[in-house]
Amino acid sequence: MRPRTIAEPYRIKMVEPMPVTTRPQREAAIREAGWNTFLLPSDAVGIDLLTDSGTSAMSDRQWSAMMLGDEAYAGSRSFANLERAIREIYGFEHVVPTHQGRAAEHLTSQIRIKPGQYVPMNMYFTTTRAHAERAGGIFYDCIVDEAHDSHSEFPWKGNIDIQKLQKLVDAHGAESIAYLSLAPCVNMAGGQPFSMANIKAVAAWAKGYNLPIIFDATRAVENAYFIQSREEGYASRSVASILKEMMGYGEGCTVSSKKDNLVNIGGFMATNNPDFARKTKELLVVFEGMPTYGGLAGRDLEAMAVGVREMVEDAYIASRIRQVAYLGQQLADAGVPTVKPFGGHAIFLDARAFLSHLPQDQFPAQSLAAALYVDSGVRAMERGIVSAGRDPKTHDHCRPKLELVRLTIPRRVYTNLHMDVVAESCIALFEQREKIQGLKMVYEPESLRFFQARFEPLVAAGVGA
Ligand SMILES: *Cc1c(COP(=O)(O)O)cnc(C)c1O
Repeated sequence: MRPRTIAEPYRIKMVEPMPVTTRPQREAAIREAGWNTFLLPSDAVGIDLLTDSGTSAMSDRQWSAMMLGDEAYAGSRSFANLERAIREIYGFEHVVPTHQGRAAEHLTSQIRIKPGQYVPMNMYFTTTRAHAERAGGIFYDCIVDEAHDSHSEFPWKGNIDIQKLQKLVDAHGAESIAYLSLAPCVNMAGGQPFSMANIKAVAAWAKGYNLPIIFDATRAVENAYFIQSREEGYASRSVASILKEMMGYGEGCTVSSKKDNLVNIGGFMATNNPDFARKTKELLVVFEGMPTYGGLAGRDLEAMAVGVREMVEDAYIASRIRQVAYLGQQLADAGVPTVKPFGGHAIFLDARAFLSHLPQDQFPAQSLAAALYVDSGVRAMERGIVSAGRDPKTHDHCRPKLELVRLTIPRRVYTNLHMDVVAESCIALFEQREKIQGLKMVYEPESLRFFQARFEPLVAAGVGA
């Protein structure tokens, strides 16, 4: 029997018309943007899968809560509402709001890292690592090897390798480590989760050395869903209770509310360590504002408070993750090369396999993202040689093993019919893949080049396709 369809658990009450463009218009737009999807004006973009950060659709309950925002400079009622929601859902006593996730990372790194200390992370996230390094910390990758292998279908590619942690302690002593910075649903590994068994074992190991865990809990709800659907003993547990158990292994967390929390801006640090909370609030007033608003408007705090409760509704989070898999499965069924298992927030096209006729120095993922836009107006992003930048010593390109195009799915924004359009476009391109030409870089910024680099087709006739 065919499994029954599960529809999105929401009705659409308000719509945002989406730009509809012709192919000649898109050819002109990609030329104007230097074949870089980051440089496209959003008015020229149809289905926008550039990122799931801050692109969520808010609910009617969130919008109505915003009208009740208390904009008092100090002692805002809206902060009290947010504090209550975070205490209940994440289980941490002290709550410090910030304008977004990286601000919470900045304060945490400044307070908790002494120069020269190691900060083990399961892979890394760009801003988390950058703030740890700015505070004098040394990044140490402790993720399992499977995470670095695009062919591995291991279901827990976000797991922490305790042997790698042990090696660090054996070599430098536990006091050389500031804290364990652990991220659920590891973004840079493709949105891959850790298991509860793993985090439990890591926490037990860390306790032996008195090492705190501070989660980058930005994508903790997506990870909790994978635990519910994959890990033995969790099928009948609610995502809310799984999240609470997971957070229980940490001393605190930093969060970008632009992801799980279903708002367009915001973040926070939360902890059970009163001393850490006090120091964070002291720095907060220098960089963000009073501890009862932290760089946000009262209405933003209200929207976050409601979003934090909505994100753990089982039907919602199941529908989100299944929509990602729905897109991935269509591509896989048509033989389009993708990274597996499908992650929590995105499907990654394997551009190296997709465009096997292009050498990596002709920027296959960049070429594929541009071709996808020209074909259907769908905007994706390159995660390959362009994003990897240059080696600071040799100045040659870093040539990462993974040459990917990321199709990131915003929350509650698109229907599965939109996913069908994306899949059709990817499949059509795959069927004519040898027609997709390589690119050459004609402008290269010195740092974070992927945001602003400009390209031209190697063969003039091959306009983006
Ligand atoms: C987005 C993100 C951040 C940074 O948060 P911002 O709100 O963009 O500053 C940190 N960690 C992870 C895992 C993220 O996805």
